[in-house]
Amino acid sequence: MDAATRAFVWKRAGGRCEYCQIHQDEYGFQTLHVEHIVAIKHDGSDEAKNLCLACSECNWSKGTNLAGLLDGKLVALFHPRTQNWKRHFRWEGTALVGKTKAGIVTIHVLDMNRDSRIMLRENLLFEGRFPPDA
Ligand SMILES: [Zn+2]
Repeated sequence: MDAATRAFVWKRAGGRCEYCQIHQDEYGFQTLHVEHIVAIKHDGSDEAKNLCLACSECNWSKGTNLAGLLDGKLVALFHPRTQNWKRHFRWEGTALVGKTKAGIVTIHVLDMNRDSRIMLRENLLFEGRFPPDA
């Protein structure tokens, strides 16, 4: 993907992970990634409509996954380009809660409430920088 596409994805996301909403400024030394929502191995493209900004933890946990299991049934992961974040997720304190099946499986597959991630949010809350839309 070219530099212009990369810059566009960063700007469109406002410098935030489009899954867990962490901002680059809150993410220490690690740089957010431009992620393929549908991986190349599943015929995903390099077009902006298949790209999103993601923190390394969301990106590495997601990998090339497209779905997760909920009660034994396959459910597609949240898609940042075609679905609205607030419709699928909400904050409960510093924990992320799924409001829909897609939200629930995405939190599970991306391990979005891992202890280290909760601790980071608690630190941000203490500093008055959490939740993201406050
Ligand atoms: Zn993230």
